[in-house]
Amino acid sequence: MTLTLDLSRATPAPAAPVNLSGMTRAELAAALVEAEVVEPRQAKMRASQMWRWIHHFGVTDFDRMTDVGKDLRAKLIEHFTVARPEIIERQVSSDGTRKWLLRTAPGIEVEAVYIPDVGRAGALCVSSQVGCTLNCTFCHTGTQPLVRNLTAAEIVAQVQVCRDDLEEWPSDKADRRLSNIVFMGMGEPLYNLDNVAAAIDIISDNEGIGLSRRRITVSTSGVTTQLQALGTRTGAMLAISLHATRNELRNELVPLNKKYDIAELMAAVRAYPGLSNARRVTFEYVMLKGVNDTPQDARELVQLVKGIPAKINLIPYNPWPGGLYECSDWGTIESFAAILNRAGYASPIRTPRGRDILAACGQLKSESEKLRASARRKLAEAPSAEAAQD
Ligand code: SAH
Ligand code: SF4
Repeated sequence: MTLTLDLSRATPAPAAPVNLSGMTRAELAAALVEAEVVEPRQAKMRASQMWRWIHHFGVTDFDRMTDVGKDLRAKLIEHFTVARPEIIERQVSSDGTRKWLLRTAPGIEVEAVYIPDVGRAGALCVSSQVGCTLNCTFCHTGTQPLVRNLTAAEIVAQVQVCRDDLEEWPSDKADRRLSNIVFMGMGEPLYNLDNVAAAIDIISDNEGIGLSRRRITVSTSGVTTQLQALGTRTGAMLAISLHATRNELRNELVPLNKKYDIAELMAAVRAYPGLSNARRVTFEYVMLKGVNDTPQDARELVQLVKGIPAKINLIPYNPWPGGLYECSDWGTIESFAAILNRAGYASPIRTPRGRDILAACGQLKSESEKLRASARRKLAEAPSAEAAQD
């Protein structure tokens, strides 16, 4: 029998439903009106109602919105979704660190890492871009070309997935394990400030996840011209990836330094809105053996940050396949820390977490590419689907 397909009456595929769960309040209200799901005069009230379900109760299904009438629910389902992105992989390290690889859109794969016992209870390290444009020589992410900026929704989704996994809905649940957010995953957040700021508005909203802005830290490699805007728009805590005290070396480690040198960067840090002893800036300093780890480097660091309310995080270099550096010896790191401590700076040495699942600082990127490579291998090895049907 031959089947002939009549395409003359084929209708175009319906547009994918729009996801409401990463929208700001204003966007949410506008989307409801635009789709003619609610009357303009009801938009604000309905948006608040949705907001509470999405961001306080964490629902991913309109049918759980029990105070929304059946008719309205049907219309919502027709136009919108509140679903999470697909979790491609979930890994748990022997030290309790959890890492998710999420697919938020075709070809857009994002990593987020939850680290227990950091901050007040536990911190989620979120990504702001897929890949990075800034080729810092010690960073694995820097070897992945920029694919694109993440949307606010894609940033918020990382927090939502983590809370699902930790079973932390509704959002006022006592003893939260997710207490802090750090923008230290893939990408340079200050090259995506609009979306980072919108995501921070959403996750700090008191009628939702309600994370205090003081528990949200944005780390930058030094996009000096955006620091003021970051402070005024987000009220987030600031972390600066410093890593060197001389321009010559920093130009090499963090090539962005050629654009904004150390002096310019430090001037912008000193002017960061709200900087005080209670709201210190964190300087991150990766410990690279024989590169930036001498007692002289430590003394220069003290001079450089003098007068700035600061703490200094020493990060043992996390190796990755093909990386150029080695981590400083433990004794060297401790001597370095002692010099900073004597000068009055808190200088915790960041314990490497999640190294066994490549979830530590600077190791992100690999999983999505590795996965694709292994999927390709599997495909090459396995008989093809068509061949199997023969
Ligand atoms: N792009 C931003 C935020 C993401 S990187 C920034 O550079 O600040 C987060 C932190 O991990 C930065 O301090 C970065 O310098 C550090 N890092 C990158 N690669 C690392 C590695 N291999 N080992 C240890 N820390 C690393
Ligand atoms: Fe990009 Fe930060 Fe890595 Fe530098 S350290 S390449 S800015 S993610």
